[in-house]
Amino acid sequence: MRVRDEAAQIAGQITELRHAIHREPEIGLDLPKTQAKVLAALDGLPLEISTGQGLSSVTAVLRGSAGSGPVVLLRGDMDALPVTEETGLPYASVIPGAMHACGHDLHTAMLAGAARLLSARQAELDGTVVFMFQPGEEGYAGARSMIEEGVLEAAGARPVAAYGLHVTSQRLPCGTFSTRAGAMLAAADQITVTVHGRGGHASTPHRAADPIVVACEMVTALQTLVTRKFDVFDPVVITVGSFHAGTTDNVIPDQATFLATARSFSHGSRDALAELVPRLIGDIARGHGLTAEAVYAREYPVTVNDAAEAAFAGETIADVFGAERGEQAEFPLTGAEDFSFVLEQVPGAFVMLGACPPGRDPLTAPTNHSAHAVFDDAALAEGTALYAELALRRLIRGAA
Ligand SMILES: [Zn+2]
Ligand SMILES: [Zn+2]
Repeated sequence: MRVRDEAAQIAGQITELRHAIHREPEIGLDLPKTQAKVLAALDGLPLEISTGQGLSSVTAVLRGSAGSGPVVLLRGDMDALPVTEETGLPYASVIPGAMHACGHDLHTAMLAGAARLLSARQAELDGTVVFMFQPGEEGYAGARSMIEEGVLEAAGARPVAAYGLHVTSQRLPCGTFSTRAGAMLAAADQITVTVHGRGGHASTPHRAADPIVVACEMVTALQTLVTRKFDVFDPVVITVGSFHAGTTDNVIPDQATFLATARSFSHGSRDALAELVPRLIGDIARGHGLTAEAVYAREYPVTVNDAAEAAFAGETIADVFGAERGEQAEFPLTGAEDFSFVLEQVPGAFVMLGACPPGRDPLTAPTNHSAHAVFDDAALAEGTALYAELALRRLIRGAA
């Protein structure tokens, strides 16, 4: 039987697991209930299972009996977001302030489904599959923690390839896959700025040093920096998402602070941001006789798909589902992913999977992270099949 048909046969189980995880979302690096559900789903399968020390990860190793071929890694993230769900779904979150609004519940269930399908084919596997169940994708760099705890050495030999899947509640029609060679997602960094002025009476600003006007100048200067210092074909995005200063209309405060996100798609532009942003902030402050601190914190690197692995994933999608179900994306996405830490060390590919429910227009449906985001269960069997097919076919191709 084809893997895709086998996935369809266990769709009920995968959906049940997904709904159970969805109902009880957990945030961050410590997801004990989600971890327990994963361990229960893997129970009885011929896997070597280990769990994390500093985070509630699950690493499962499946050693094929058909030979000592290479190692392939499949990754699914498990964490939810601090969002109160407003979908009204029968399996909606029962925990206020926590929701699987990014669809990681689907990834976890699909990866467990793939572990089941591949376990049934253990006799024909020439090589090893590592299943990486990862907490803390949403801002906690859980992938980096799992690498530090040895997920890339879990099978003994290091993986020759790694694949990650991500569902999207909009843009792609349900069941459509999208990937590309090179940059797939942006690097995401945080800029924290504090402008130190000298407070005083708002009627006599010349006797004070107003940090607000200077901070405002910085906000607009950052947008000018984007257009004047960066190649339009190697773009960056800077958005100031938080700006705080002062208490009332007639007082000049001592300081102003703001936070910005900086997105980039190459090492060169990321390094340039890290150098140019603090310099610009400092120079503007000095120009007005004030001082400022700008901290440029590197968070997630660019998610870079290996060209050969992205092509392999595209061929696999076309062969398993039909050419019309796969897209080579023209542009990267401006979101970020900590699977980037894995892809810095192992060639691989990150693939998006449309999960927009029927009756919603993919172009206008609420996006991932929205309290109204809905991901269709129909994507589950297809994602499970792709995980399993990528591992099976990559092992057949061997270490090359
Ligand atoms: Zn997300
Ligand atoms: Zn996500």
